[in-house]
Amino acid sequence: MTINHARRAFLGGRRDTGAYLPRMPWAVEGFTTVCQRCSDCVEACQERILVTGDGGYPKVDFARAGCTFCGACAAACGYGALDPGLAHPWSLKARVGESCLSMRGITCRACGDACTERALRFQLQTGGRAVPVVNESICNGCGSCIATCPIQVIQLEEAA
Ligand code: SF4
Ligand code: SF4
Ligand code: SF4
Repeated sequence: MTINHARRAFLGGRRDTGAYLPRMPWAVEGFTTVCQRCSDCVEACQERILVTGDGGYPKVDFARAGCTFCGACAAACGYGALDPGLAHPWSLKARVGESCLSMRGITCRACGDACTERALRFQLQTGGRAVPVVNESICNGCGSCIATCPIQVIQLEEAA
């Protein structure tokens, strides 16, 4: 499988500026200052989607699966880097890239099938094609659609 390094960098929370962007649910402001890189959250995640990333900071690897928002990672954090008291774990939303198979006329419904929130629905276009459309008011950024995409064109981005 070809690895899209730009996408991997995005999911890892690192941009070209080198600044670390927290990609942990319930990450507090100034996460990198508060986090002690103890990896207790990584060990606590039953979904095994948390990995130790660059610099020893935890991050979510959506290529493995989506987050269930069970809260085990936040409960395990003894340093206050993850705050389950926040109103939302994060404001990430799924975005489907233009190279999506369905957008190119090749039938694929993998992402829609993976979305238990029913935030990712297929809309019929003229000519008979059906393309995925994310309803941002429903999408919770769980990332479950990411791992199921056979060509890895779905990313999570901050809500507009
Ligand atoms: S909320 Fe649960 S599933 Fe999501 S990263 Fe934390 S421990 Fe893993
Ligand atoms: S448990 Fe808290 S302090 Fe430890 S690595 Fe995870 S976020 Fe950082
Ligand atoms: S991130 Fe989760 S809720 Fe949003 S479209 Fe993907 S599977 Fe559905």
